[in-house]
Amino acid sequence: MNSSTLRDLLIAWANINSGSENFAGLDRMRAALAVEFATLPGAHLEHLQLEGTPAQALRIRVRPTAARQVLLSGHYDTVFGADSEFQTCTLLDERTLRGPGVSDMKGGILVMLTALREMEKSPHAASLGYEVLLTPDEEIGSFGSGALFAAAGTSKKFSLALIFEPARPNGDLVHSRKGTGNFVATCHGRAAHAASPTRAGRNAIAALAEFLVAAHRVPDEMPGVLLNIGNIRGGGPATNVVPDFAEAKLDLRITRSADREPLLARLHELAGPINARDGFRLEITGAFNRPPKESGPVEAAALAAYQASASELGLAPFTSVHTGGASDGNNLSASGLPNLDGLGPIGDRLHSAEEFVHLPSLAERAQLTARFLEKVAAGAVAFPPH
Ligand SMILES: [Zn+2]
Repeated sequence: MNSSTLRDLLIAWANINSGSENFAGLDRMRAALAVEFATLPGAHLEHLQLEGTPAQALRIRVRPTAARQVLLSGHYDTVFGADSEFQTCTLLDERTLRGPGVSDMKGGILVMLTALREMEKSPHAASLGYEVLLTPDEEIGSFGSGALFAAAGTSKKFSLALIFEPARPNGDLVHSRKGTGNFVATCHGRAAHAASPTRAGRNAIAALAEFLVAAHRVPDEMPGVLLNIGNIRGGGPATNVVPDFAEAKLDLRITRSADREPLLARLHELAGPINARDGFRLEITGAFNRPPKESGPVEAAALAAYQASASELGLAPFTSVHTGGASDGNNLSASGLPNLDGLGPIGDRLHSAEEFVHLPSLAERAQLTARFLEKVAAGAVAFPPH
């Protein structure tokens, strides 16, 4: 596909609203993807019902019995719902397209599709089989698709997975990601008149604030841990009442699975002195929904092969980095399937109405993955066992 064909297909895809909760739009988007992926030689397409959501995933299998197998993954939902003001694309200049999902990650799915079409022309294509998973719920935590990723990992069928989230703005790939968790700190005190002479009230807001100030400092003592207090509420409309309730929502992120227990233990330790006081109860509830994606020898081998491919193609050099944001790579890695991420186009301002993609990177990154897959097909990349 030439670059204007790529651009036009991306515009057509981005103009279909596929916010994670817009099920009619997700259906339209999946149908549009099915038309394109069905053109891969011998492609077998399945629309898969997921647990707990009306949205479906699209799975495409090609040469499932070939000697070498890889998984390619992308999500076709976006953070822009049907009521968002950001619905269509604008060409900012010849090389820059702004639009919903143009990088994250309809542009990534286009890079994947284009790479597969190119790889299919290789004389080694017959030795490489693959499975493509296109999922509808990444932006809301992949609760429905989780079982698909778990099954892909435990099948032990694939040497590695490739994930087409956008590259970093400087072109770097992603080898590891933080794990994410959503937690709530709830504080119960005791209501009383603000002027009660017995001082019977127990101010839940003040106690929670004390806890939060301490919790906010935890990342300073635990490298690789992030904690964001994202929301706080408590008390009622009347300021002459000692509030008996307050709660805060916390976003916790960890770099290594081994950080999880010490982090939770530290937060409970900080709640301890408050709970020891008469009339207060401070509880911390929640869970990590995505474990960290750590990096190992398979990711290192894949990066080296990608870098070699880039230099053969005369593309600008890049490396791979750690990032705080989670993706489905976290889920795959937790299920035992190593993966390289950030293989989509170069773009920026994701999750905002300024999201854009650098158009030349669509063809360049597609060429890059095609070259990488040709190497894998030819048996020229050795992946350590996992
Ligand atoms: Zn994404």
